[in-house]
Amino acid sequence: MTASPLATRTAKYTALDAPTGFEEPVLRAVRDDLQQCSQRVEVDVRGNVFGYQDGSSADGPLIMITAHADEIGFLATSILAGGYLRFTKLGGPTSMVLPGQRVRVLSRSGPLEGVIGVKPGHILSPAGAHQVPPIAEMYIDVGAESAEQAAEWGIEAGTPAVFVGEWTATQNPNRFFGKCVDNRAGIVAVLEIAERLAKVEAAASFVHAIVVEEEVGLRGAAVAALDVKPDVVIAIDTVPSGGTPDLKPDELPWSIGGGPLLKVRETRGLSTHGPLRELFRQTAEEKGIPLQLIVDTAGMTDAASAQQASGNIAALTIGLARKYSHSAVEMFDVRDLDQIVELVFHAVGKITTKQQLLRI
Ligand SMILES: [Zn+2]
Repeated sequence: MTASPLATRTAKYTALDAPTGFEEPVLRAVRDDLQQCSQRVEVDVRGNVFGYQDGSSADGPLIMITAHADEIGFLATSILAGGYLRFTKLGGPTSMVLPGQRVRVLSRSGPLEGVIGVKPGHILSPAGAHQVPPIAEMYIDVGAESAEQAAEWGIEAGTPAVFVGEWTATQNPNRFFGKCVDNRAGIVAVLEIAERLAKVEAAASFVHAIVVEEEVGLRGAAVAALDVKPDVVIAIDTVPSGGTPDLKPDELPWSIGGGPLLKVRETRGLSTHGPLRELFRQTAEEKGIPLQLIVDTAGMTDAASAQQASGNIAALTIGLARKYSHSAVEMFDVRDLDQIVELVFHAVGKITTKQQLLRI
């Protein structure tokens, strides 16, 4: 069986290394892709990339569909005498998966393979074997024999690193895992939606915005929304899912392969706009797309920051469930991604006037 084009495209995007603040490889790739389906493509100084598609109605709504470019990672803070790197986190890699984890250090001279060191099991006390060391005690080993050699290889304070987590197809033709499914899958959804919208007439105008610095505080989207001043923001991002043996049935009670997630509320951020929520529900019903309504008590997305930044915006988040969040083996189901594209494409086609967005 041939791999789905969506999976192939997601594989291509996850192969790029683009930690927060170093998103250029992804930004260049999306600029090239958006140029194929937009009237114009713009970039701002922060790095956000915008693909504009003008609608047929001059006073129609402007709809921003957005996903973040950056991935979680690490940043070298110092080089120790033996050539090891101390580091801090970029965003929120899960600490317990770090000891023994392969990483790629993006030095000024090019990528270097490395590993986060781990104490020999033989000498760990029974209690120590169950503890995750503090980040300040962890280190990256790139095979350098001295600090001087690491420096010669282009490593310095501020050198970023990412998980090594190669794209892996499972025996299930729909399930894949690897690094930065968060949020390259979201980017692929935005690009696919943009390409489908380019082929149809729409009253609304669209701006497809790939934004920076989500993993360190939802920053790029806020800048983008202030700039673009959209009437509607739809953020597409991954969401941690349940359904694994280590979670109770009522913890993260949604699963991969169960359809797109519609966030009714992020308890720390977004309250999804009521009329948008109903429009998406109705569209899902009409198209036979399963929709998982969720309340996210932990995470936040760019929809929250974009809405707060620019104010008068109807905002909604559509989520892709993925297991093993913020590790090198994030797993998802490509049928969910396919349904996200289908759902958003058809739902935004129904937004033709700003009056539709009013709550009363
Ligand atoms: Zn994300």
